[in-house]
Amino acid sequence: MSTVSGNKSGRLSTRAAKSTSDKPQGISTLAVHAGEARQKALNSITDPIVMASTFTFENTQSIIDYIEQDQERGEYGRYGVPGERVVEKKIAALEGAEEGVLFSTGMAAFVGLLNTRLKSGDEIVFFDECYHRSRDYCRSWLSRYGVVTREVKMGDYGAMEAAINDNTRLLVSESPTNPHLSIVDLERFAAIGKKYDVETIIDATIATPYNLQPISYGVDYVMHSATKYMSGHNDLLAGIVLGSKEKLDEVRKLRGIMGSINTPHNCFLLERGLKTFELRMQRHNENGLAVARYLESHPRVERVLYPGLESHPYHEVARSTMRGFGGLVTFEVKDADWKQTAAIVDAAKLARIAPSLGGVETLIEQPLVMSYFERTPEQRAEFGITDNMIRLACGIENAEDIIADLSQCLEA
Ligand SMILES: *Cc1c(COP(=O)(O)O)cnc(C)c1O
Repeated sequence: MSTVSGNKSGRLSTRAAKSTSDKPQGISTLAVHAGEARQKALNSITDPIVMASTFTFENTQSIIDYIEQDQERGEYGRYGVPGERVVEKKIAALEGAEEGVLFSTGMAAFVGLLNTRLKSGDEIVFFDECYHRSRDYCRSWLSRYGVVTREVKMGDYGAMEAAINDNTRLLVSESPTNPHLSIVDLERFAAIGKKYDVETIIDATIATPYNLQPISYGVDYVMHSATKYMSGHNDLLAGIVLGSKEKLDEVRKLRGIMGSINTPHNCFLLERGLKTFELRMQRHNENGLAVARYLESHPRVERVLYPGLESHPYHEVARSTMRGFGGLVTFEVKDADWKQTAAIVDAAKLARIAPSLGGVETLIEQPLVMSYFERTPEQRAEFGITDNMIRLACGIENAEDIIADLSQCLEA
């Protein structure tokens, strides 16, 4: 199996954080232990699933102490459940962030963050290759409240700078983007934010903190759909915003009003999924690279988009900032119309036909059909979605088996 990646900048050390003894701890150590109390309720080694909508006080004085001393405690379920705090601290430790606020979905996290930062008359600037629902939210909903969204071509930092004016409050991008897997030069992106005193957000769902740590480049907020690699088992939805405690204070307050929190059972599953985070990411990275290399050498494949390949337009910046390149691989089939492309997807025996990514099961989909079927050809062209495009989200199965499946699909 090929070794994974470069990370020449050394920003991503394998020793991600410091423990109390000041001895740095590794990613898996953090994934297993960070955020958890050493001694838990009923001496259980795992965190309990606390099924409670409200939390009791011993007496009136304890309510007054709670208010006056600003104690960390949620007295009512809408302000969060105990399991959420554990997961927030664990992910913050993995990300190298001071604080995290967990939401019920990735989109709830995005909406929660934007709504606390923006008011009527404000503007945001987007790199255009972003999750289509994030774009929908800004274009169709934020616009109702007088927030202006400006989109510039992915990777055009000059255009991003030119789009900034006195009303600009946020610069937003994904990295890598989906499905093109373009990579943001985080140093430049954060520097533009600092230069104009505009906050920056990176949706790093597809990278995860294993492969990329945007905060170390001076990005203000990182968000993830924890539905994907964080939970890792295609069995729950969750989202998280990470950044400084001060900046996230308002986000937490708004979440308490929105009530977009997670169920106790969801938190349990997410915490459990995170325990194997590093192991899973290592395998996703290996599988992604092996599959991308295989596809690149296949005569029926016209083009492969994977940042770990030398042929990818953003390979250099990916190599210098990322530990590995994840399990998502996008490719285009030579001389195929959308129906011939669909036949290749339909021939899959191992990969399952589904949206989403980041779970243990390999998923395959045709972006044109799965996410852009109702859009016009012009809109698809604008989003860079071609008829012959297939997106594969490699799971953690053995690479040889994923490749064998693709091989028989491409022969179909
Ligand atoms: C899935 C996804 C989202 C949305 O997350 P949900 O948990 O589905 O709400 C946002 N950004 C990216 C990059 C995603 O892949």
